[in-house]
Amino acid sequence: MDLDLDPGLSDEMRAIRDTCRRFATEVMRPAGIALDRMSAEAVIARGSPLWGVLDGFKALGFAGGASVDDPSLSPEQKALLHCIVLEELSAGDVGLFITCGLLNIAPEIARASGRTDLAEFFGARDELCCLALTEPGHGSDIVAFTEPAYRNPRIKPALKCRRDGANYVLNGQKAAWVSGGTLAGSGIVFASFENSPVGLADGAVFLMPFDLPGVSKGKPLEKIGQRALNQGEIFFDNVEVPAQFLLGEGPELYPLIWEMNLKGANIAMGQQFVGVARAAYDLALDYARQWVQGGCPIIEHQNVKTRIFGMFQKLEVARSHVRRVAIADATLPGGVPFQYAASAKVFATQTAFEVAHDAIQVLGGNGLTHEYLAEKLFRDARSSLIEDGENSMLGLMAASRL
Ligand SMILES: Cc1cc2nc3c(=O)[nH]c(=O)nc-3n(C[C@H](O)[C@H](O)[C@H](O)COP(=O)(O)OP(=O)(O)OC[C@H]3O[C@@H](n4cnc5c(N)ncnc54)[C@H](O)[C@@H]3O)c2cc1C
Repeated sequence: MDLDLDPGLSDEMRAIRDTCRRFATEVMRPAGIALDRMSAEAVIARGSPLWGVLDGFKALGFAGGASVDDPSLSPEQKALLHCIVLEELSAGDVGLFITCGLLNIAPEIARASGRTDLAEFFGARDELCCLALTEPGHGSDIVAFTEPAYRNPRIKPALKCRRDGANYVLNGQKAAWVSGGTLAGSGIVFASFENSPVGLADGAVFLMPFDLPGVSKGKPLEKIGQRALNQGEIFFDNVEVPAQFLLGEGPELYPLIWEMNLKGANIAMGQQFVGVARAAYDLALDYARQWVQGGCPIIEHQNVKTRIFGMFQKLEVARSHVRRVAIADATLPGGVPFQYAASAKVFATQTAFEVAHDAIQVLGGNGLTHEYLAEKLFRDARSSLIEDGENSMLGLMAASRL
């Protein structure tokens, strides 16, 4: 049974939740299953179900965070509704939701950075905006802003930035892991200065369009889970970036902007993977009530019953933790410190992974087949343990802030 345990849930918020649940079940889930079986090239090709989902998401008015921009709601209600929307849509298909979440977010990022000029510039475009940080040879090096490698001048960036008068020149590339990288028309690009004595920590952050001369894209990456989510390299060949697209630079501001971005991304990952854990729990409960072995529905066997209770408990704890962190981040001045966001991400993704694993056990052999969703949820959750910071790395980073 689905109880509304959260205080302050209005009828309007329930209605938005129900709309999300319908869209997740009727549109995202079947499209996500179809996309999961396609090649990475086919996922983004013309005619793929991906485009219908993005159109539907836009038609619902959710693109760019619009669903929670209701002035009648208190800041706490807005933050709670945001958690609910992300959980519902990610329960439909998390890889698809992450793609939808990139749609038309550049104006929102510009506004949050106090840049109305860029909000206007990107508001006139209709496109995905990616976050381009990691590089070939630099994953944790460039994510882990608390670790010594981040400030080791012997570690050189794969995307090199240099000042050129008032403007900047970029040369090199970002990793094949950039979510939406092949599709994005713009991105937040983190680029370290070449030969800085401070190492990767000294750089410039741009919110920039990708139709500047010299930007090109690689092939989409094949991966184990979240296959609806495109990943792809971005190449920069002597790209002249006008200073207008700079969000901040230098060894003080550059790591701080990254920390703020990672904090937001980690909280969002927590919210999304509560959705994946719920999908796995719902699936297992439903199956256990119907599947008969030993002369009765398997839910009547004690081992299945206690496993299902364990899944329920993990889901509830993850949801409570993530909501508490997300609501505090949205309502406290300055938000929560980084370690809370990391904890929400690590806990929720680990929970989704464990609950999806349990779901496979409850389904027995059926859980291993494409006929049922359990194995896909397991693969989707498995990918999340590395996405937006490998979990043990995030633990190290968070621990240094305790
Ligand atoms: C689904 C998905 C989506 C992603 N989306 C994006 C995106 O949108 N944009 C983007 O820029 N990147 C993205 N990434 C990249 C992601 O951030 C990196 O994969 C992640 O940070 C880990 O880096 P890596 O894969 O290079 O692993 P590595 O850094 O090579 O780590 C390998 C192992 O070594 C350990 N390790 C590495 N360094 C240290 C250290 N200093 N101390 C202790 N242990 C260490 C790690 O814990 C890990 O177990 C995405 C990744 C995935 C899987």
